[in-house]
Amino acid sequence: MSGADSTAPSRNDNCHNCHSMDSCLRYARKNQKAIVALIREFVECESPSDHPPSIERFTDLLFERVRDIANVKKFNGGHLRVEFDLPGNKKQGQILALGHSDTVWTLGTLRTMPFLEKKGRLWGPGVLDMKAGLAFFIFAMRALRELDIAVSKKVIMQVNADEEVGSDSSRALTEDAARSSSAVLVLEPGTGLEGKLKTARKGVGDYTITVRGVASHAGVDFANGANAIVEMARQLERIAGFTRLDEGVTVSPGVIQGGTRSNVVPAECRAEVDIRAPRDRDRVYLEKKFASLKPFDKRCTVEISGGLNRPPMERSAGVRKLYKTAEKLAAELGVTLAESATGGGSDGNFTAALGVPTLDGLGAVGEGAHAPNESILINRIADRTALLAKLVTAL
Ligand SMILES: [Zn+2]
Repeated sequence: MSGADSTAPSRNDNCHNCHSMDSCLRYARKNQKAIVALIREFVECESPSDHPPSIERFTDLLFERVRDIANVKKFNGGHLRVEFDLPGNKKQGQILALGHSDTVWTLGTLRTMPFLEKKGRLWGPGVLDMKAGLAFFIFAMRALRELDIAVSKKVIMQVNADEEVGSDSSRALTEDAARSSSAVLVLEPGTGLEGKLKTARKGVGDYTITVRGVASHAGVDFANGANAIVEMARQLERIAGFTRLDEGVTVSPGVIQGGTRSNVVPAECRAEVDIRAPRDRDRVYLEKKFASLKPFDKRCTVEISGGLNRPPMERSAGVRKLYKTAEKLAAELGVTLAESATGGGSDGNFTAALGVPTLDGLGAVGEGAHAPNESILINRIADRTALLAKLVTAL
């Protein structure tokens, strides 16, 4: 073919890449025992979101394990920012890796759910979500150092301590770091046992509905009472109707509280409603719908508060481009990547909403996040670690 000559340089480039990439995979394989040992240390240092001393113990451990290759800044709330010292001069721009130190598991879970290595997997509380992801990234950076692969951008890893409880105190830090970054790599687990990357996440939030009626004696003074529970029941039927399954918008009443005794017409009822919105325009739709709620019984009042607290991560052109890069790099490792969309949120929602290309689900491959069968596949440790190293050099 006449194009053979003109494609020769790019073939050379590819070969050069293959060579260095193979070396990343080789490094990860050679160091797999050490990666597993770090994951074990992380899992065996429990860190529930609601127990600051445990979070502190975990962040101290993480600091000890990266201090030889990074600068670590500690923030109020237990959040960490790790800046890696990597080969390459004149670094311009920044890449942000995003993780979290907290887990949903209460202190003492290890007694009934110890760290285990069996059936080709590692098991334990937080192993998938997301302690393995943190270990992968640390070893990916070690690979770049030991192999002396130059990196053109500054690389930081932010580790938030409150991701599982809504990221209220870390959100501003995350957004701050994202604003000066050209790409965000989220170390959350991939989807399913294939470890699909996540290129879209729904926005997540909740509304609180408070209905106030008029209390009265249910027998003596029934007609003068305005029943807040009955009013809420009617409201909730309307609210549940805001769901648009074909569009991916879901509205799910999850908590209801009201009344005092059965012989009292209740004066107050409160409900909490979960909302999920794939696109920003769905947020607008939901805001309109919730704002339109009016009492059926004019003697009652309906008060609405809340909204989305994590904006949707939409599959933008920037996200697609980032995914395509990852797909190509994974192919060089012999891995066929796939992408997925999820209804769950992560800190990647915040960075994507700022317009910074964000790729999520780059952490471990496994199953059972937040469940007793939480586990990761051992035979996917090396390629995930290598992919992170390759991404950092390619971006
Ligand atoms: Zn997570």
